[in-house]
Amino acid sequence: MANNTKKFDKRSQNASFQKDKKPVKNNLVFKYQGDLSLGDLANKISIPATDIISFLFLKKMVTTTINQTLGEDLIKEICSHFQIKFEKEEIEKEADLIPSNIEDDEALLQERPPVVVVMGHVDHGKTTLIDAIRDSHVADKEAGLITQHIGAYQKEVNGKKITFLDTPGHEAFTAMRARGASVTDIALIVVAADDGVMPQTVEAINHAKAANVEIIVVINKIDKPTADIERVYQELSEYDLIPEEWGGSTIFCKVSAKMKKGIDELLETILVVSELLELKANPSRKALGSVIEASLDKKEGAKATLLVQNGTLRVGDYLVIGDYYCKVRRMVNEYKQNLSQALPSTPVVVTGIENVPQAGDHFRAFNSEKEAREVANARQLSSRDKALNVSKGTSLEELFASEGEIKNINIILKGDTTGSVEAVKSALLKLAVEGVKINIIHAQTGGITESDIILASASHALIYGFNVRPSAQVRQKADEEKVEIHLHNIIYALTEEIENAMKGLMKPVEVEEVLGQGEVRQTFTASKIGTIAGCYITDGLVKRNALCRIIRDGVVIYSSSIKSLKREKNDASEVKKGFECGITIENFNDIHEGDIIEAYEIKLVERK
Ligand code: GDP
Repeated sequence: MANNTKKFDKRSQNASFQKDKKPVKNNLVFKYQGDLSLGDLANKISIPATDIISFLFLKKMVTTTINQTLGEDLIKEICSHFQIKFEKEEIEKEADLIPSNIEDDEALLQERPPVVVVMGHVDHGKTTLIDAIRDSHVADKEAGLITQHIGAYQKEVNGKKITFLDTPGHEAFTAMRARGASVTDIALIVVAADDGVMPQTVEAINHAKAANVEIIVVINKIDKPTADIERVYQELSEYDLIPEEWGGSTIFCKVSAKMKKGIDELLETILVVSELLELKANPSRKALGSVIEASLDKKEGAKATLLVQNGTLRVGDYLVIGDYYCKVRRMVNEYKQNLSQALPSTPVVVTGIENVPQAGDHFRAFNSEKEAREVANARQLSSRDKALNVSKGTSLEELFASEGEIKNINIILKGDTTGSVEAVKSALLKLAVEGVKINIIHAQTGGITESDIILASASHALIYGFNVRPSAQVRQKADEEKVEIHLHNIIYALTEEIENAMKGLMKPVEVEEVLGQGEVRQTFTASKIGTIAGCYITDGLVKRNALCRIIRDGVVIYSSSIKSLKREKNDASEVKKGFECGITIENFNDIHEGDIIEAYEIKLVERK
């Protein structure tokens, strides 16, 4: 490099860049990433700026100055003139933030603690179990440490750590997974011994299986006199969860979360299972992981609980979380103790971040602000592109106008806490109205922003705010963009409004209802009236003005309506089965004996 530089300098001292003079060859490879100023280029390729200006002057680009920005084509031309090899260096546009996509050298992998989630039917004791496990850490209490709810905590058992996610239930678990975050290794499926397998037990089993996580069945409430463990075994065997005692391979633990019985055995079992899973990570790389929960704190601003899934997170690192970047200035654990670093499987709270991320967002740490900024910028651009490419949903009016097909309601959801956003989101996704599909194209903790309005306008979405209010400026933007903002502070009221809209959006279905049939036994022709069919009503009834079709030999030959209906020469509004009548058909006289006249109506039926 130094040699090359010298060469350039030497050459450039007496250089005069006329076409007939051959520039000096060199082996320098100049990597560039886009536009550059002339001065910067001169520095980078070690050619005096004046030489470049002379060259450009000869190319009749008289106005060149040192600050002029040179585009890619000109940079290429200058480089090739000075015989400098060049190649364009692609900036890593969207560094992969997904921990499972990152490969590590086997030699660098080390054992990491398991990440455990608790699931099961309501009231089967999930919360009590999570608390019992947390409280079983006697040493913490002796040290006067008070745990804060941060969405996850770690426990040390026999010198090894276990990470528990403390939001029980499969909904939160699956919501995270839906966002691409697979953070869990082991699911504890809690089943109350006195209640057995219940609907949400089955859901939890299926969610855990779908996520391919290891299941440990925890039979809880064994202290209850009505506990029936055999029944639980029996019921779970239907879901392929068979205990070793019965010849299966599922691990079962029996506990009383309330009495704090069997907790130590459960923790030891988790460690055994985790050893079998050979959970490993590379602590020597920069951290990667997922957001467990995040919120807007009145005092501390945006904060997030991050679970480091691979690598080590350090104070001073630059983080890209979702599409934003920030510096890790302070990191605390569940006891609010400051940490300087967090190893794999460690949950930490990071405060003072620019934006409230979403649960399930991935994060990645970088050494420099520059790297983090570039990656965040690239991610913002690509998510904007994605947002703009969202298949256009439809406005309410368009929904009314469109026929058939599944109608989409695109929704942008903003709420005050991660919990409320997740709760509203899952309530919305549970709404089922045939023919209408809810797409939550964006759900995030935080106030409604102008960029939400843009997104809503670009993708024909409605904005729903839960416990948040837009500023006057945002409202004005919404007016300009004709974007609807709906504000609520009761989940039920919000979902009811959307459900009603969904039902309202549906055009009532047109359902045909056959009234009855008559057989043409005779025909008469009257000069003014046309052909009169003398019918015998064989089924149901026929009504004057009802729609009808003429069926001959099983084939509909004409569709029209009943113009007149007479019973014994008197006009009748309807004639029932077993009676004879005279019928004329609107615009149709070619009636034959033996034809069937089928009367029907079209009814509008509201969708349920
Ligand atoms: P969750 O809805 O699954 O989180 O259930 P909770 O942890 O809130 O427990 C529901 C009820 O069951 C509470 O009244 C608990 O006190 C009770 N409970 C939980 N574990 C046990 C237990 O081991 N034995 C008994 N007898 N009651 C329990």
